[in-house]
Amino acid sequence: MAEIIQFRKPKPVEKAKGKTLCKRGFHKWVIDKDRRFDVRQGCLVTDYRCERCGVVKTTAR
Ligand SMILES: [Zn+2]
Repeated sequence: MAEIIQFRKPKPVEKAKGKTLCKRGFHKWVIDKDRRFDVRQGCLVTDYRCERCGVVKTTAR
């Protein structure tokens, strides 16, 4: 009885590196929705989304 144990760890180095950066607060921001009007803030805002982890932030201009 042969037992084949496979260690499958799909670990793209770039992704791991990116997550480390995200943990440190260095997100890779890309513009999600440019210059929409935020009713609550009463001004134009831009939505940014982190390409790696998907965190969203909103910045008022
Ligand atoms: Zn991130």
